[in-house]
Amino acid sequence: MKIGDIIKERGSSLSFEFFPPKDKAGEARLFQTIAKLEALAPTFVSATYGAGGGTLKNTSHVIGRIKRETSLTAMPHLTCVDQSKGELRKILEDYKGKGIENVLALRGDPPKGTEKFVAPKDGFCYAIDLVTLAVDVGGFSIGVAVYPEGHAESPSLEMDMYYTKQKIDAGADFAITQMFFDNSYFYQFIERAEKAGITIPIIPGVMPISDIDRVKRFSQRCGATLPDYIVRRLEKAGADEAGKVGLEVATEQCADLLEHGVRYFHFYTLNQADAVSQIVSNLGLKRLGLAPPARTR
Ligand code: FAD
Repeated sequence: MKIGDIIKERGSSLSFEFFPPKDKAGEARLFQTIAKLEALAPTFVSATYGAGGGTLKNTSHVIGRIKRETSLTAMPHLTCVDQSKGELRKILEDYKGKGIENVLALRGDPPKGTEKFVAPKDGFCYAIDLVTLAVDVGGFSIGVAVYPEGHAESPSLEMDMYYTKQKIDAGADFAITQMFFDNSYFYQFIERAEKAGITIPIIPGVMPISDIDRVKRFSQRCGATLPDYIVRRLEKAGADEAGKVGLEVATEQCADLLEHGVRYFHFYTLNQADAVSQIVSNLGLKRLGLAPPARTR
């Protein structure tokens, strides 16, 4: 089913993101995770696409297995890294032929060790071009990435919103945010988006923290502010209790989003079921899938 249509109909959404494992053991663990999370009846799940173009096969394999072996709606991420327009068209046509109806259209990060994204030969510079291509191939509900704190390469929040609006207007049905830990960035982003005339659902991306060093690395890499009070709470908890405190932090973050009328949640699962299942259960989010259309943000 098309994610844009499901969200529109329900007025709410619960989704989980996975990364494609590199080996058979990781894949077996991932499918145990997926089986556990399937019980929460998510609106959709997604599989990332590794930088450098190295995991098209893995992403496509994981998405194919989810589609064949579960009841879940599965969405592949796709980036412009290392691929020509013709190759990207072929990938999209292949997905379409396999009955995949959703895609997250991304530019991708500059390859490791480089600062600036350089379009591949005969390829695209920006996600908007991939959105346009997916519209041309047809049959997809298209998602895009958005950045509550602004994308790291954007010269200003105004320019960030200007290009975000252009990308959405090219044919996106929904957007998923970069992880953030301070909800005020999300609320301010929604305000700017509304002012800019963006009306598609904007789904907050939530990352439960279980390891302070890992999350520091992630947040630094993607430009998400990790507030001092969270760092202090986690450091005070120590390694043994970090998972428990991280879960409390994420539960509080989602509770605040719920209180502010947010009805869409996307979880960066890191291929682990327990923390996310616990948060969903703490907040009664499973019921959201059945809730009548409410305030949408
Ligand atoms: P774009 O929308 O193209 O934006 C990139 C930059 O270019 C921004 O600064 C934007 O303001 C600017 N820009 C846009 N258009 C123009 C223009 N016409 N002129 C000048 N500047 C312009 N990466 C992966 O490799 N694999 C994944 O699976 C993956 N999944 C992700 C999922 C989510 C939910 C999110 C939030 C990010 C994900 N990323 C992934 C990371 C993403 O690829 C990077 O953040 C990347 O740097 C930007 O991608 P984008 O699609 O937002 O690019």
